[in-house]
Amino acid sequence: MRVVVAGGGLMGSALAYELAQRGIEAWVFDRHDAGRATSAGAGILSGETSGVSDTPYHELSRRAFAYYTDLVAALGADAIAYGLSGLALVALAGDEERFQKTREALRGRSAAVSDMDPEELRRRFPALGPVTGVLFDDRAARVDGRYLEARLRAAAIEQGARFEQREVLALDAGDGSIGGVYTSAGAVQADAVVVAAGAWSTRLLDAIAPTVPVVPHRGQIVHVDHPPAQGPVWPILEGFRGHYVLPWPDGHIVAGATREAGSGYAPWLTAEGQAEVLAELFRVAPGVRPAVIREWRVGLRPASIDGRPLMGAMGDVPGLYVLTGHGPGGLLLGPYSASLVADEIAGRAIPTDFSAFRPDRSFDPDPSKSAT
Ligand SMILES: Cc1cc2nc3c(=O)[nH]c(=O)nc-3n(C[C@H](O)[C@H](O)[C@H](O)COP(=O)(O)OP(=O)(O)OC[C@H]3O[C@@H](n4cnc5c(N)ncnc54)[C@H](O)[C@@H]3O)c2cc1C
Repeated sequence: MRVVVAGGGLMGSALAYELAQRGIEAWVFDRHDAGRATSAGAGILSGETSGVSDTPYHELSRRAFAYYTDLVAALGADAIAYGLSGLALVALAGDEERFQKTREALRGRSAAVSDMDPEELRRRFPALGPVTGVLFDDRAARVDGRYLEARLRAAAIEQGARFEQREVLALDAGDGSIGGVYTSAGAVQADAVVVAAGAWSTRLLDAIAPTVPVVPHRGQIVHVDHPPAQGPVWPILEGFRGHYVLPWPDGHIVAGATREAGSGYAPWLTAEGQAEVLAELFRVAPGVRPAVIREWRVGLRPASIDGRPLMGAMGDVPGLYVLTGHGPGGLLLGPYSASLVADEIAGRAIPTDFSAFRPDRSFDPDPSKSAT
């Protein structure tokens, strides 16, 4: 059986790895667009605090987080690129209402999240601002998305997968079922095709399945060098305004990100976006102000209109599968989502009911379902 995967970001690479593990030939074509989300992703993995207001998403997040333990062991992941960090949800002046709501939602749902004394957090994160409340998830972790994608790709290739930098121009659905793809270097036949083309997925699917509502949400994010912390790596901070601060073992810190729903396919940095990211960094962690800017990154998150990923078979087009729409949570969810879709393609029993994430569901644009 040959499966063609359109898109080789984290989703396409993880899927190729999972298919190869099941003895299925995977052929991945990737255009490597500027603004690919995986290259810009921060790397926060928190199964407990993701999707708190959407039960199916929350459950998927927890399972996806658990899946990482085996995955990093199998990939032999580098300790710098993946590790447990702990994550503090921090309230500052003006955040009290949102803090209490989140606290209520998490109470009873998660044994891993508990109240923490702000002074205890300041001991662990000396650059902290004047926080008034802290919820701490001691299981949260971090991963370098670029590294993870590269490790998955290398492991997939070792097991027979093929990767090529090539554009998929169109899907071949001549007789109503999928027979392959047309690419910039000719037609390729396949028994199944998976569209994992991130924010560009809808463009590929439109001619055949115009119901897939995935749009680009731009994220601008900064990497700064801060004097290396003594002792353990500082925990991750998340404020209640959609931003975060993610420290790494080498002392560099990632802070982000903008969430620009109307950005379109425009992967560039803006003065407004940079000002927003730095202002929130300084509000939550003012001790980081003297840090030296290393790099800005920008990515287009593949966001679905109901905030849930899209994965699995497109019911009315035999041979067509979708793996996209993971929005702001794709680094956490991606490897597990890929394993579920690979199970479905392989005809194996699927360990999780993922009907809430079917790509041919009806979409309810409820903003409360957004993730981390
Ligand atoms: C600033 C930012 C911060 C983030 N932080 C986090 C985080 O902390 N935790 C978390 O879990 N997630 C995070 N995310 C989300 C995560 O990065 C994404 O959900 C995930 O990387 C999406 O992967 P993907 O493979 O679907 O898309 P992409 O990485 O965008 O890959 C899609 C690929 O498909 C290719 N493609 C498109 N069209 C075609 C075509 N026609 N032919 C061939 N190839 C094509 C593109 O070139 C691209 O390489 C963040 C994202 C951003 C932007």
